[in-house]
Amino acid sequence: MGLIHELPVELSNQIAAGEVIERPASVVKELAENAIDAQATQVLITVHQAGLRSVEINDNGVGIAADDVEIAFQPHTTSKISTDHDLFNVRTLGFRGEALASIASVSKLTVVTSTDGKSAVKAEFSGNDLLKKKTHARSKGTTVTVEDLFFNTPARLKYVKSLHTELNKIVDIVDRLAMGHPDISFRLIHEGKDLVWTSGNGNLQQTIAGIYGRTIASHMYAFENSDADYQIKGYFSKPDTTRSNRSYISLILNGRYIRNYQLANAVIKGYGSKLMIGRFPIAIVDITLDPSLVDINVHPTKQEVRLTNEGHIGDLISEGIKEKLSTQNLIPDAVKNLERKTTAETTIRPEKPEQISFDDLDIVDHISEPDPEPLVVDKIPIEKLESHPIFNDPDHLQAWDNRLKEEKQPTESVSTFPDLRYIGQIHGTYLVAESSEGFYLVDQHAAQERVNYEYYRKQIGEVEADQQRLLVPIVLDYPNSESILIREKKPVLESIGLFLDDFGQNSFVVNTHPTWFVAGQEESTIREMIDYVLNDSKISVAAFREKNAIMMSCKRAIKANQHLDDKQAIFLLKNLSKAENPYNCPHGRPVLIEFSNRDLEKMFKRIQDSHDTRESE
Ligand code: ADP
Ligand code: MG
Repeated sequence: MGLIHELPVELSNQIAAGEVIERPASVVKELAENAIDAQATQVLITVHQAGLRSVEINDNGVGIAADDVEIAFQPHTTSKISTDHDLFNVRTLGFRGEALASIASVSKLTVVTSTDGKSAVKAEFSGNDLLKKKTHARSKGTTVTVEDLFFNTPARLKYVKSLHTELNKIVDIVDRLAMGHPDISFRLIHEGKDLVWTSGNGNLQQTIAGIYGRTIASHMYAFENSDADYQIKGYFSKPDTTRSNRSYISLILNGRYIRNYQLANAVIKGYGSKLMIGRFPIAIVDITLDPSLVDINVHPTKQEVRLTNEGHIGDLISEGIKEKLSTQNLIPDAVKNLERKTTAETTIRPEKPEQISFDDLDIVDHISEPDPEPLVVDKIPIEKLESHPIFNDPDHLQAWDNRLKEEKQPTESVSTFPDLRYIGQIHGTYLVAESSEGFYLVDQHAAQERVNYEYYRKQIGEVEADQQRLLVPIVLDYPNSESILIREKKPVLESIGLFLDDFGQNSFVVNTHPTWFVAGQEESTIREMIDYVLNDSKISVAAFREKNAIMMSCKRAIKANQHLDDKQAIFLLKNLSKAENPYNCPHGRPVLIEFSNRDLEKMFKRIQDSHDTRESE
């Protein structure tokens, strides 16, 4: 007798669930995406115990016809595609027809849905079995309630992390869905507390405010760039508003949140050297392209996609950001910097979702408990969304209007570097200068590093640069393993004009060097260059040149505690004003800070700050 047989439906559903339903956040993602596909304009997500006890998604979309309810919960059933042509032109978030069947197979699920707002149907499932189906009442749309997730797959429960982690993942998913759909109002409530609430009025910057808070949103620039095939638009943070990891870079492709290392890198690349090393921006990049140019069917949860022309899209993103930054005055404002330390900079979300206590919850135990609350459909009427502050607060609306007007103004007026007049030096470290706008403190070391860096980047790029013959050739010995690597990497070294000749098995000799070397530092410079190659055997020519430009600029720069005479200082400021990016040193630190006339007047109480009336007493 043959040994091969078809798997029972429940089992194959559970296997499919293993791929798409990893954790409560996956349920939120799949169900909220269904709501989006159903053209909802309001999506209310209510979760208890980070989604392990229950997740409820309430939408005002098109609803599911009574006859279709059971079909929708079968595996591989969808209304979204029918032919292979459709598969390569998907315009909806879902299309695999797996989510409802998968979720129902690992939970107790109830759906209440209506296509006309008059008659509704309520169906209850447990591990895929339809328990009850009856008529009900609700407005047009769908509510799906998922309880006791993984009650029948205890192995999966083991992989669920702390409630804190699971809740953060839910918040993260809702954030990204909301950013991809500014025209939909998303509200996420956990244990009665609002964690996300976006206005849904179509304005991306207001959506960002609903997610990251108003302070962050107001520290972002809008940008766009497009060509015949791709439209890119979005917001990115000012270079001094950063985070310690790249997870605040959100990429949205045709309304779908995706992960893509190369495109996230393109965002960072757009900043050039304006970011501090090890810091990452906050950005939302919305990419629109013809669906035929992307294959979204490469990953079960569709967060990874295959793009036809990734490099080119990356270039459009980098250029868009770079261009916008090039028109901005990026001198940090001294006074605002001080204020920010004490207020906005600290948290990214006005209310952190962390304040729930997890200790009293045993994840496995609660599964067997009877549900303490009876199911109440439409617990929170969706109309309540209209009490959202964004809809009601006139000051808030006015503030946004003003900001938007500011955004639209031509930027030339602030684009130029101020015309600096040198006043003096303090502590042998800072230069003081003034312009008609205010006064400036310039870090002389950072300024010179910047000027040097731009010089060396150019020199190092010109491989043909003249070589200078050494009077006494430099001999370098390295251990065996390193010699092999150095020999392999000769082309990289030669790309900046460093030529090594073999000199016995483990030694090299250098007879000439590029003319831009600093006299007296030839050997240490060469050794540092070789170290870069040894420390990163995969280093690219571009990265190698960049590292060397930074190294050389630092070697050549005047240090702190060094007196400059007026001529030298004026010369430095003049060179700085000609730099491509005079605002940061190559490590990303600020070169100068501004004390605007307005700030000075405020500090000396010549004018009152309208925002802080307490001080006027
Ligand atoms: P997919 O989204 O890939 O089509 P699902 O299993 O998530 O597969 O959903 C199956 C079908 O059920 C969908 O194609 C859609 O027709 C219907 N459906 C699911 N959720 C909703 C909803 N919230 N509103 C309206 N229809 C829905
Ligand atoms: Mg779906």
